[in-house]
Parts: sequence; structure tokens; C-alpha cells
Amino acid sequence: MNSITKLQDTLKSVRLGEAANHLPVLLEEAGANDDTYAAFLTNVVNYEQKRREEKKVEKHFKWATFPFRKTLDQFDVGEQQSMSKRQFNQLKELLWIEQLYNLILLGPPGVGKTHLAIGLGIQAINKGFKVIFSSMGELVHALKTEEITRKSQTRLKRIRNADLVIIDDLMFMAMNQQEANLFFHLINDLYNNACIILTSNKAPKEWGELLGDPAITTAILDRLVHRSEIIHLNGESYRMKHRHSIFEQESVTN
Ligand code: ADP
Ligand code: MG
Repeated sequence: MNSITKLQDTLKSVRLGEAANHLPVLLEEAGANDDTYAAFLTNVVNYEQKRREEKKVEKHFKWATFPFRKTLDQFDVGEQQSMSKRQFNQLKELLWIEQLYNLILLGPPGVGKTHLAIGLGIQAINKGFKVIFSSMGELVHALKTEEITRKSQTRLKRIRNADLVIIDDLMFMAMNQQEANLFFHLINDLYNNACIILTSNKAPKEWGELLGDPAITTAILDRLVHRSEIIHLNGESYRMKHRHSIFEQESVTN
């Protein structure tokens, strides 16, 4: 075993695996730049640190399970009369995450609720926060199967540990008493520990019907709305407005 391989093994044994794998390149660069010992050591340690940070972000993206990745830069604020550029920039700064504010994004289908939620989620991960995206259906399923499947247990552990939990399409489904109870307990666990972004095409006053039980609905709403910003996205569906028409394409070519 040559001395570099030996050194790589030693680095790995003291948990500097990233630097170990990259050692040949680091050595070559140090030689080419005629680095001092201190500069070389700094580069080794910095490399390990940078890769760990990158891997952490990659892991958080994997955990987040976004259904698609659209960023805030791809979000056209001009389309939204209901939100000013200044408000959008305030959201983008993410101070509300540190202050534990919830965001409730309301509006009809197609106006960009999910896109905005995901864009904020991506921004948050890049800033070092832990984010989980879940549809309401998936969340309720995980809660109901928590006692029986490892997968649901892991998922819910991550949700309870997250800094930001995005619950998409809140009242898409009607819930029975047991489901509403489980959902309430989750919101209660998250309350004061994490931020929640909820998207819904139903106004909060209609949530009661879908949750069934008025007492549970009030308890959930109390916690969600206590420190929250409610944003009504409106306008025409972005999908409809920007849809590609076969006939338009035809007329261009004719
Ligand atoms: P919703 O969740 O409100 O039903 P989505 O977020 O799924 O709507 O948006 C529907 C589609 O339209 C997505 O492809 C999204 O990227 C796009 N979209 C909606 N609003 C905007 C916007 N303001 N700027 C850019 N794309 C938008
Ligand atoms: Mg949506």
C-alpha cells in the first residue's frame, strides 16, 4: 500500500472521507500552486466542510419529496395582482421561518399555490432549513399507518423534525373523525416548533365541513392562524392563460 492510500485510509478512519477521496487532486493542486503547509491543510479541511454541506443539502432535497422543482425565480410575480413585489421579496427572505409564522396560500386551481410553496421550500433548503412537502392525502395515510409501517414512521419523524412543513391541497379530501384527530395532533406537535405552509382552494370557513368535527376544526385553525399570513392568490389560472393551443401553432406556420 503506498503512502497516499495509507493516508486516505487514515483520513477515513478519522471521518474525513470526502477529503480522503479527493486527496490526489488536493495534493496535485497544492504542488501546482506551491502552497504552504498551512494553505494545504486549510484546503483539505475546507473541502471536507464544503462537501458535507453539499451532501446535507442533497439529503434535505431527497427528504423534501417535492413533486416538481420550480424556483421562486421562475415565479412571475407580475401575474399576481394579489401580491406586491415587495411582499414577494419579504417572503423570499425567509425571516418568517425564523419567526415561526405559518403561510396559508388560498386560491382557485392553477394560480400558482403549489409553485410558490415549492419555490419557498427550495429557497429554505438552500439556506440550511429542513423542509418536507406532503400532500394532504399522503400525510393522512402516513398518520394512519404510523404504527404499522416503518416507511410512515420515518416519514413522520422527518416531518416532526422539519423547520418547514408544506401541506398541499389541504381540504381536498373529507376526513373522518379518526383522521381529523390524527391531523390535529400533528398540527399540535408542529405548533411552536416548525412553520407550516398550507395550500387550499377552499376558504378556512369551509374547512369545518371537510373536517367534520367543529371542535377539532376550531382547535386546528387556532394553532394554524395564531401566527400566520394568509395570502389569497387570484387571477386566471396560469395554466389556462399560458396553455399552448394547437390552433395557435397552426396559424403561426400558415
Ligand atoms: P395551484 O397549486 O394553485 O393549482 P400550480 O402551482 O400547480 O397551481 O401552478 C400551475 C402551473 O402554472 C405550474 O406549472 C406553475 O409553475 C404555473 N404557474 C402558476 N402561477 C405562476 C406564476 N405566477 N409564474 C410562473 N408560473 C406559474
Ligand atoms: Mg396545487
